[in-house]
Amino acid sequence: MLLQGIAASPGYAIGVAKVLSAKAVHIVKRQLADSQLDEETGRFDAAIAATRVELEVIHGKLVAQQKEPEAEIFEAHLMLLEDEELVDRSKERVREERINAEYAFFTTSEEIAEMISALDDPYLKERAADIRDVSRRVINHLQGISSEPLNDVTGKIILFAEDLTPSDTAQLDPSKVVAFATQAGGRTSHSAIIARSIGIPAIVGIGGSLENAVKDGQTVIIDGTNGKVIIEPDEASLARYSQLQQEQHEHAQYYQTYLNQPSVSRDGVQVELVANIGSVKDAEQAAKAGAEGIGLFRTEFLYMDAPELPSEETQFEAYRKAAEAIGSKSPIVIRTSDIGGDKEIPYMKLPKEDNPFLGFRAIRICLDRPEMFKTQLRAILRASAFGNLKIMFPMIAALNEWRQAKSLLEEVKGELREAGISFNPSIEVGIMIEIPAAAILADKFAKEVDFFSIGTNDLVQYTMAADRMNPKLGYLNDPLHPAVLQLIERVISAAHANGKWVGMCGEMAGQKHALPILLGLGLDEFSMSASAILPARALLAKLSQQEMKQVAQAVLELGSAEEVKAYVEEHVQELK
Ligand code: PEP
Ligand code: MG
Repeated sequence: MLLQGIAASPGYAIGVAKVLSAKAVHIVKRQLADSQLDEETGRFDAAIAATRVELEVIHGKLVAQQKEPEAEIFEAHLMLLEDEELVDRSKERVREERINAEYAFFTTSEEIAEMISALDDPYLKERAADIRDVSRRVINHLQGISSEPLNDVTGKIILFAEDLTPSDTAQLDPSKVVAFATQAGGRTSHSAIIARSIGIPAIVGIGGSLENAVKDGQTVIIDGTNGKVIIEPDEASLARYSQLQQEQHEHAQYYQTYLNQPSVSRDGVQVELVANIGSVKDAEQAAKAGAEGIGLFRTEFLYMDAPELPSEETQFEAYRKAAEAIGSKSPIVIRTSDIGGDKEIPYMKLPKEDNPFLGFRAIRICLDRPEMFKTQLRAILRASAFGNLKIMFPMIAALNEWRQAKSLLEEVKGELREAGISFNPSIEVGIMIEIPAAAILADKFAKEVDFFSIGTNDLVQYTMAADRMNPKLGYLNDPLHPAVLQLIERVISAAHANGKWVGMCGEMAGQKHALPILLGLGLDEFSMSASAILPARALLAKLSQQEMKQVAQAVLELGSAEEVKAYVEEHVQELK
């Protein structure tokens, strides 16, 4: 059987399906005799203790991997095991109602979860999910089922899930999970971005009902390059994909030869190939993957899933360590927090919105909460004494937003100076161009900022009026659309006319059909998933910027993304 989804992370994998089921656990009520009650409460205590050990192990692993925000999720789960309302109350019910522990615990946790999720408070809704998560683990122990869905599977696993949350992805072990496919999501949703950063093939937005389509243990092929899932493939498909995997392996070895090479075109034009990261660990991986710097540090990952706003110290440490990991001379662009949209921060208690991508997001929140914003700016400025940091504001739509953000930055600089704390006084400050209004007025912004970075993930969704998370709209979410290309051309020209450099940190920067056009348009810095850097450097080495200028001018005149792609395929021989 063949399922078609959105190609989220390229490559091929052959493995065994593991379906992460979202089904509710099945709990039966059993009435107990008085003589059984001691044993039942003992069984319950043992399940709580085993869950604690399990959570401590996961927590320890995440701390060792420096995945602090993810580790904090499990800290919160550990705290729930101490909760009187949940744990002590369940135990009382075993005795009072003479019932089995799983039923007592399940009903108690459901009652609490339902009560708090009825309160219409996004923060408490998240806590309800935590309670259910912990409840599932404890009940699994009571029923003798492994909570770690991947522990009981050997071989190469291909994970199928409705969607993968940051906590799921935090636990993905790329040595076991060779690929994944999700029902939800689009090319620029988090699960897709994370798959590209760890370099495993992935498909998102396959829709339909997973449980009817694929079963645990079935052999599956994931073609992440073309967005295809093949379930129980025939011999011919297996042979073809084994061959493709072999070629992929040979390509990877070939790309390694570009590891320590400069990023330069065939006609000698040097650009910067840098990485997008969300953590210190990503910075270390980016350095190993040949990145010359960091073009986007998505700092909101430090805020997500943490139990509260990260302190100045926590942030300072993260920025300093990331700068040191990539090399203190290499550029590292720290984007101030881009909270909102698809990135919910439960503890911030932001009002629920009908259109979160068009709502209270990123710089709009920061300007509304200057104390939170200034804490982050202080942390970045302090870290600027330890590396080549640059600051970037996301989601700028209006000149006033930029000016207000800049003046808060100046205020913080003044405070640091007064306190005698060192920082780089001439730190570069730029903005993301991801809203069409900013792209259209790029000439005005270019007079005031130090640099631009084009965020095509959002620029495309706002230009095409197509939610980037909606799998049905994948056909509109294409950065090769000439309307988007014309905006990009306008932004690059405006920056250069004002003597400023311009980068791109949207996923487009790492796409092979886009690279020739972007080189031709004169983009200075390309920021992408770490795994895309060496293939991009290898392609760049074959291209001539002079020739690509003509390609770029030609595609700007076309009428659709399909025509642009076809034109590039026909006229850029080096892609073959
Ligand atoms: C973008 O919009 O292109 C971008 C890089 O930002 P994010 O994907 O984090 O919204
Ligand atoms: Mg964006």
